[in-house]
Amino acid sequence: MTQTVEYQKHYYAGSRKELIAKVKEQVSEKRFKHILGVEQAALELARANNYELEKASVAALVHDYAKERSDSEFKALIVQTGLEQDLLNWNNFIWHGVVGAEIIKKELKITDEEILNAVRRHTVGAKEMTMLDQIVYVADYIEPGRDFPGVDQARQLAAESLRAAVEFETKHTLLYLMNNNKTIYPAAILTYNAYVAS
Ligand code: GDP
Ligand code: FE
Ligand code: FE
Repeated sequence: MTQTVEYQKHYYAGSRKELIAKVKEQVSEKRFKHILGVEQAALELARANNYELEKASVAALVHDYAKERSDSEFKALIVQTGLEQDLLNWNNFIWHGVVGAEIIKKELKITDEEILNAVRRHTVGAKEMTMLDQIVYVADYIEPGRDFPGVDQARQLAAESLRAAVEFETKHTLLYLMNNNKTIYPAAILTYNAYVAS
């Protein structure tokens, strides 16, 4: 059953339906379905952890808003907005969250820093993650459309403990990246040290 939430317009000027329509314009059908799945997972996690549903919904709905922007747009923004210039050495995987947050702020007029931070941190996490950061990070990983080895264990853990799911996701993402000789964004190591290593 689809969960919905009536927006009190604390974070976005329009209704949930209007925000969904804005997001739909920006992404492929497949990614749009993923985003709706992330919202459903985020609402469930928010309910289980007594977190504000409206805020979880907005953050989840916008988390991949900028995913299909061009590399040249991201690069120009990194230069213009004075973000960490080392970002120029990375790619869409990292940009769509970290730089995407600036696009969301500008185009959707969402200014809540906790929501923007949850978008910035949704791919690799951070040393210190708020509950909203954790909700979006985990929801992105376990939404109903995800299918990869370990996803059911991640879902089960998330139902028991948000933090345990953050730990599992961080560890397994790093293992996956290393097994495939992928570069690791330094913040991902900080997340690992904070949530996995002991
Ligand atoms: P999506 O936007 O819903 O597809 O999911 P994410 O934002 O979580 O991840 C986007 C991509 O970034 C995935 O393909 C991950 O494998 C990849 N990714 C996650 N962590 C890192 C990292 O530390 N370094 C690099 N290079 N890629 C990463
Ligand atoms: Fe993403
Ligand atoms: Fe996503």
